[in-house]
Amino acid sequence: MTARVLVVDDIPANVKLLEAKLGAEYFDVVTASNGLEALDKVASEKPDIVLLDVMMPGMDGFEVCRRIKKNPVTQHLPVVMVTALDQLSDRVTGLEAGADDFLTKPVNDVALFARVRSLVRLKTMVDELRLRQATGESMGLGDTLDPAAEDQSVRGRILIVEDRPTSAQRIGETLERDNDIAIVADVSEAVVRAKGGDFDLAIISLSLDRQDGLRLCATLRSLEATRQTPILAIVEEGDMKRLVRALDIGVNDYLMRPIEGSELTARVRTQLRRKRFSDRLRHSLQLSLEMAITDQLTGLFNRRYMSRHLNTLISSAAQSGKPVSFLILDIDYFKQVNDTYGHDMGDEVLREFASRISANVRGIDLACRYGGEEFVVVMPDTDLTFAYMVAERLRQSVADIPFPIAVSPGKLPVTISIGVTAIDGPGDTADAMLRRADQALYRAKRDGRNRVVADAA
Ligand code: GH3
Ligand code: MG
Ligand code: MG
Repeated sequence: MTARVLVVDDIPANVKLLEAKLGAEYFDVVTASNGLEALDKVASEKPDIVLLDVMMPGMDGFEVCRRIKKNPVTQHLPVVMVTALDQLSDRVTGLEAGADDFLTKPVNDVALFARVRSLVRLKTMVDELRLRQATGESMGLGDTLDPAAEDQSVRGRILIVEDRPTSAQRIGETLERDNDIAIVADVSEAVVRAKGGDFDLAIISLSLDRQDGLRLCATLRSLEATRQTPILAIVEEGDMKRLVRALDIGVNDYLMRPIEGSELTARVRTQLRRKRFSDRLRHSLQLSLEMAITDQLTGLFNRRYMSRHLNTLISSAAQSGKPVSFLILDIDYFKQVNDTYGHDMGDEVLREFASRISANVRGIDLACRYGGEEFVVVMPDTDLTFAYMVAERLRQSVADIPFPIAVSPGKLPVTISIGVTAIDGPGDTADAMLRRADQALYRAKRDGRNRVVADAA
């Protein structure tokens, strides 16, 4: 992972030290020696994370943090406060200022990289979501992906794996206000619960009595159902060996005993936010895939998808010698519906028409809105005779039952005309078929509408 880290400290030796450590891990480091310079660098260098000293002359670290978090452009930039070891109250002040995490001086390498990596992952997620939103907006998909909609009030579901009752209880009490907590002391039970429970976070003790917490972490990482669940490990004070193993396995972050409340809260919050962002990313991906191939008004496939699919279908049919048919359906005198009842009512009629099409075709048939009030149904493995039957059934399903409308007289008689065609030999193409179906539709209109005409070819 490469990321740009802004190191802020008024003492040059502190800056140099962090710069060297981060540089050795291939982080790109920029530095500032006071609050104002830090804010400048945030704007000009666009770092991915800020390591912020608390005690600085002039503007202190808390104020810098407050300003970063108050600015909508930079509010998602992760800030780690670097505090003196004995200044517990600094952590609380830091949290109130909006800080995402803490490091204590002297800064330990493992802690440094764990915090930086965990927070940079979170930021990557947020950035990607924002880009997706911009793309979605530029494609007219609206604000369904809005990252500002990050909902803090949604309760996290947290699995705590800890066999020391007092410790488990203390962690639970700290977190239960904003989260739903499940406490488990047994590793195999934890696996079962994690697989079935759809948790947002697992907090796992690595010093369980006669059980292997590390192995549990590895198991959760390898199972499909839990691979994406963030893990926060609890390690004994000074147990660097196990901690390094845990981070290697893919544990997202850790807490060292004795567990301190504000630290626990801050790290849980970071992991839960990242989990929510990644869930939303996945969701937005599905949504954009659906939107790319469906018509917004009717939910049927759109023209772009149909055209692509038609080509594939026709060349495979031409090879296999199987038939393919399709229908073009057009609402009769639809302009009058708009003119009489308004465009919204016209849309209502289009939706109802689409649902009657869906109800009258098979699962393998492809119903699509071809444009305006024209629809196409593609029917694989179907000859002209059968296609004509389906078309006639569709025509009746529209003509026989008037469409319900929200204005007087409450229902509206609607009719449709349909042109039908089938593939004509191995040399036939989608374009040629569409043209023939269109000609058939034209004849249906000319001969009086509310009828089905099959292509004579
Ligand atoms: P015909 O029987 O010959 O098909 O007559 P028609 O009035 O249905 O056909 P025409 O092509 O003259 O008009 C189609 C109308 O469909 C014109 C357009 O305003 C309307 N239309 C196209 N797309 C939409 C839409 O998304 N919503 C609504 N409400 N109307 C639409
Ligand atoms: Mg200082
Ligand atoms: Mg029409």
